[in-house]
Amino acid sequence: MTKDLYEILGVSESSSPDELRKAYRDLAKKNHPDTNPDDSAAEERFKRISDAYDILGNPEKREQYDLMRKGGHDPFSAAAGGEGFGDLSDILRSMFGGGGNPFGGGRPASRGTSQVEIEIPFVTAAKGGTVQRVLRLPAVCSKCNGAGGSGRETCASCGGAGRISSGQGFFSTMHPCANCGGRGYTLKKKCSACGGAGEIRSSENVSLRIPPGASSGTTLRTSIGGNTVLVRLRVKNDRFFTRQGRDLLCSVTVTAAQAVLGAALMVRTLDGKVKLKIKPGTQPGAVLRMRGKGVVHNGITGDQLVTVVVKLPVELTAEQRSLWTKVREAGF
Ligand SMILES: [Zn+2]
Ligand SMILES: [Zn+2]
Repeated sequence: MTKDLYEILGVSESSSPDELRKAYRDLAKKNHPDTNPDDSAAEERFKRISDAYDILGNPEKREQYDLMRKGGHDPFSAAAGGEGFGDLSDILRSMFGGGGNPFGGGRPASRGTSQVEIEIPFVTAAKGGTVQRVLRLPAVCSKCNGAGGSGRETCASCGGAGRISSGQGFFSTMHPCANCGGRGYTLKKKCSACGGAGEIRSSENVSLRIPPGASSGTTLRTSIGGNTVLVRLRVKNDRFFTRQGRDLLCSVTVTAAQAVLGAALMVRTLDGKVKLKIKPGTQPGAVLRMRGKGVVHNGITGDQLVTVVVKLPVELTAEQRSLWTKVREAGF
């Protein structure tokens, strides 16, 4: 049995939302219990198709799924901690930490995977380094041990399924049950510490090692308190630098005389200020390469590319006017 959600829907990973929806509708129609009464295999397929579309049809969930799938981790074995799975909903529960329903809340997975995003300075991303952050991570409520309270009863609205369908036939869509919040059960007495959720957000002070050459979207996998946490990086812009792969781009402004006569400037690099020679006769827009001053990524170092901007005087004093007139008369 394939566990790849794209394979379940018979589409490629680059398929558009429209293609996904069409594939889902075709398959759902073919396998719908209404058209296949007493066919448990079709019912099972229908359930798997619905579960797959629950994820892939939701841009955020799809992104999260793609991230885990592409990150060199089999999302399923990663989520399962290497144990086998029989049921797709188990996989989804482990991936998204829900109660068998990727949309709903539910029992927190004790070994779940959570995802957070942090912002890091440009230079830290480029050079690598360590950042300290306080992350708010889900943790099992210690007061109720994750039960959420006492007096558990099967939800009367959804009969324990955690979700309800609305609409008709194969166009029907599943929604988390509002009565039980997708858990499938209600509690007579809710836990005072977690309000019935069974989990709380705990603040963890963590130290994260940022690899050199990290960029926005880079996701680090770390383990905090027994839970796998995917930390997605967002790199702040820098006022001076921009990145182009391993190369750093920046610009410096020189006067007309500096461009014509040459100059030596102190230019900011990742390792502090470094002298850069502007040769006599440097043209506006010239790009000067500072070798080896770029970003090190996978053992290869980029360069810093400096664009020379020439600033011409806007207003001239009488003396400057006379000097520029002489330049003109000399034929330059
Ligand atoms: Zn609690
Ligand atoms: Zn319910």
